[in-house]
This record gives sequence, structure tokens and C-alpha cells, in this order.
Amino acid sequence: MTSNKKLSAGDDIDARCLKCKDVTNHTIVAMVEERVVKVQCNVCRALHNFRPVQVEKKATVRRSAERSGQAGRTGGSSRESKAESRFRELLGGRDPLAAVRYAMTRSFQTDDLVNHPDFGIGLVTRSIPPNKIEVVFKEGAKVLICAPRVKK
Ligand SMILES: [Zn+2]
Repeated sequence: MTSNKKLSAGDDIDARCLKCKDVTNHTIVAMVEERVVKVQCNVCRALHNFRPVQVEKKATVRRSAERSGQAGRTGGSSRESKAESRFRELLGGRDPLAAVRYAMTRSFQTDDLVNHPDFGIGLVTRSIPPNKIEVVFKEGAKVLICAPRVKK
């Protein structure tokens, strides 16, 4: 049986959860076209990128075909590094233009998209009370200072 069932956000899917260190049931949070990019673990409620339960061998074949055949599918970035493609996956097709400009005086929360003058676009993956956030940028994760969360 191949799983050609069409998935959509809100559906349940099995995925590997790093927190549970196991394959658990997840709810799809974000999709790009027909690809699941973000899921939430139904066991520990952690939000993370979708990690398939098993790696298909087909993927390797498809990738080499893509390289020789139709380069530039996403605008010529066929030579992006592993870190970059992981980063892109993390963003899950979110609009970089929606990023909030980073400033120490601002407060951020997990899953916020920030635009840092030096590091570029990043995603807040963790907030570290009282006044720090961990942000994953293209070049890796950084801990930044931010204003303490203000309760409105
Ligand atoms: Zn989990």
C-alpha cells in the first residue's frame, strides 16, 4: 500500500518526535503544496518539522533527476546547503515579508518570524525566560536578548 491519500492541515499523521524519541501520532499544522512541513506531537504537544517515519529510497532517484532535468524549480537555488534546506523546511513556506524586525526592546514568542539586521530571517524556536529567545537562522541557532513578555 502506498500512502497516496491526500493530507491536509488538521489531519493526523505518524511522525518521529525528537522529544518523545519515538514515532508518535501527530496533527498536521502546516503544509506546502502536498508536502507536510510542520506537525504537532499529540503526546507531548511539541511543534516541530515533519520527520517521515521511514526514508523512501525513491527520494534519491527523484533528487538526481531533478538536478539534471528541471533545475531552478524554486528560482535556481539548486545548490543550497543542507542547513539551508533544513532552514527552509523549518520556515514551512511562511512569508519572510511577514517577519517582525528584530529589536532588543521587542518581545517575541515561540514560532514568531523575525528579521535580524545581521542574520536575516529567523524563526523563534524557544523562549528562554525572562528575556531571551532562541532563534534559528539560515546559519544556525542563536540566542538573542528580547524584552520580557508583556501581558496585555
Ligand atoms: Zn512528542
